[in-house]
Amino acid sequence: MGEFSKFQAKIRDVGGIPIKRLLPNIGKKTIGAWCFLDHAGPREFKPNEKTMQVAHHPHSFLQTFTWMLEGEILHKDSLGNEMVIKKNQVNLMTAGHGISHTEQMLLGENKFHALQLWIALPKETGDSIPPSFYNYPDIPCWIDDKDKSEYRLPMGTYAGYQAPTLQYSPIVAVHIITQDVKTLALDLNPEFEYGIMVIKGNIFISEKETLTSDELGYIPLGKSSLEINIEQGTELFLIGGTPLNYQPTMWWNFVGPDKKYIEKATDEWNHGTRFGDIETELGRLNAPQVPWKKTKD
Ligand code: MN
Repeated sequence: MGEFSKFQAKIRDVGGIPIKRLLPNIGKKTIGAWCFLDHAGPREFKPNEKTMQVAHHPHSFLQTFTWMLEGEILHKDSLGNEMVIKKNQVNLMTAGHGISHTEQMLLGENKFHALQLWIALPKETGDSIPPSFYNYPDIPCWIDDKDKSEYRLPMGTYAGYQAPTLQYSPIVAVHIITQDVKTLALDLNPEFEYGIMVIKGNIFISEKETLTSDELGYIPLGKSSLEINIEQGTELFLIGGTPLNYQPTMWWNFVGPDKKYIEKATDEWNHGTRFGDIETELGRLNAPQVPWKKTKD
């Protein structure tokens, strides 16, 4: 069993929105089946400023999991779903062989703050899983008796609660908003590896280890609980799962079991023969050529 380690976010600016990428990371590509974690925002747009508008793009071999922290976005997909994604609700899109969507802030909305995660599908069945989109307006939410913190469970099971969210491998996600406690005892499954992401505040893992905003703490398999010290008002997001039995290949918006799969997905999206269609005024994003081909040609 390894020990606690931590990774820094890679920070970029996409259309005026700060994007802090925590997964994949150098040294850590996946945590359970979680293969992508972006902390986007917070960003407040001025009146008349162009807000976040993500044009038509595809996904494969993954589930996208959007967790709003502030604001709302409109999702439209190639299955014909149209849904306003709201705070404290889970929106889960399963790609299987292929799906495509647009994501945009509505007119009049000026705040954007969200976590966007991807879940890699199982190697053996990922391509044959039917594409779907589900909105879960009611997920477990409780105040812990001891620490008085507010817990929300958008995925999996935790502390005797169970989320309704569709999952294809054992994973969990918990959003914790702490009150004025100093310690928090995390309830862990020894068969899971975990990542702790600090949204706000500071966590003291041990005397030596501090975890702050936009750092991802990694807890290896084998622990059934973890006591951490926290600064007052700390907000954190815990993800975990059974380690994947393969390393997914990821490029652009595609996940796949190998490079060949990604090459085919790229071609088929760019030729318009897979991933469906949407009526949108936002336009269509072209997939860039896969990097491993670019260097060879
Ligand atoms: Mn997307």
